[in-house]
Amino acid sequence: MRLAVVVLLACAVLRAGSLAPEADRQLAHDIYKELIEIKTGYTTGATTPAAEAMAERLRNAGFPDADIFVGGAIPSKANLVVRYHGNGAEKPLLLLAHTDVVEAKPEDWSMDPFILHEQDGYFYGRGAFDDKAQAALWIANLIRLRQANFHPTRDIIVALTADEEGGGPYNGVAWLLKNRPELIQAGLCLNEGGWGELVNGKRLANDIEVAEKYVVNFRLEVHNKGGHSSLPVADNAIYHLAAALDRLAHFGFPLQTNDVTRAWLKQMEGIQTGAMRDSFAHAAGGSEAALEQIAAAAPMWNAMLRTTCVATQLEGGHARNALPQLAAAKVNCRILPEETIEHVQQTLGKLFNDDQVAISVSGEASYGPASPLNPALLNVIHQVTDSIWPGMPVVPIMVPYATDGKYLRSAGIPTYGVQGLFVDQNDSRMHGRDERMPVQSFYEAETFLYDLVKKLSSQ
Ligand SMILES: [Zn+2]
Repeated sequence: MRLAVVVLLACAVLRAGSLAPEADRQLAHDIYKELIEIKTGYTTGATTPAAEAMAERLRNAGFPDADIFVGGAIPSKANLVVRYHGNGAEKPLLLLAHTDVVEAKPEDWSMDPFILHEQDGYFYGRGAFDDKAQAALWIANLIRLRQANFHPTRDIIVALTADEEGGGPYNGVAWLLKNRPELIQAGLCLNEGGWGELVNGKRLANDIEVAEKYVVNFRLEVHNKGGHSSLPVADNAIYHLAAALDRLAHFGFPLQTNDVTRAWLKQMEGIQTGAMRDSFAHAAGGSEAALEQIAAAAPMWNAMLRTTCVATQLEGGHARNALPQLAAAKVNCRILPEETIEHVQQTLGKLFNDDQVAISVSGEASYGPASPLNPALLNVIHQVTDSIWPGMPVVPIMVPYATDGKYLRSAGIPTYGVQGLFVDQNDSRMHGRDERMPVQSFYEAETFLYDLVKKLSSQ
């Protein structure tokens, strides 16, 4: 009964007949199930069985061996790349998804995370949203295009890659760019990162990710000569560090906009209601006070409008009866694309105003420029969106985290997060327990991505 209501509500805003034929939906479902049930956990799993299973399906669907590549950094971390040939009128279209998932412990979940469950209108399973829905839809749709004997004006490449979660030495996109760049060279890439906003069952907007913030970790360190804890002095490593962190707790980087977030503010003005609508209208017009109101209203909005830095790890002291000789913290920063690491480091130094607190960059920074705000592409996305969900706004966004798009953008391949998967805005469960995807959203996205790929390769 509940399922029937959910489906009825969903159908009310969906153009009639926009789901794929039943056999195609079944194929997408079966691929999705197969991918979720292959354990590809970032640290404990392997992506190779997933790559091989998809290669097998493609061969069975008539793709020649010469167009299918399986390989990667180490034997357990293979990627799959398949090419569907077009007439070469345009540079190839690359369709990317990652097959690795964040770890999921069965004891933390309400069900086995590595079995696809369908319940109350949702598909449950690790990767149901991030990123096996899109991976399954790319493969199912490519098989469908071939069955329809579609003649694209450009090669369509699907790449299902390893180790997006946490990056690291076996990252599939980085490996392909370094070792087999000719396999994924493209004029345009569609990837994860954009999705549809669903609030209380209502579809609000189809978000398109155009830019990403980049990630830098700083290490704060205070060294001190220490001593016996029975003879304390004011100059204490833990107190220096604590004072610096307390300043960080009360600090906000300046609010800033760029091309992408200005376009986002304008679109949001049309979607919001009441006082928030006025704030978006004024912010789009440049009002600082309105930007403050928006940033204060939601952590996600705050993250889109400023660089953020937050303390995430602590260490210090060596004995309970000794004055500490070391106190240290990790500070995780998500930096706007137009800001530099040096500027953020200097800002933190001025904020702490304590030369005992040393600040250094820890690990590598993941930097990738924004993709151009391509009006022709946005127009096509808008047309396809409108044909499935009439009147639905398409909203360009910048996301506060990094995806594999950063490697491709750095390599000169404009990359956009486009999924058309509508998920609960306030309950995304990505990386969390009982990860899920609305059943209706999965099948709607199948149609959306099929139509979009077709349109982008028949101009
Ligand atoms: Zn992901």
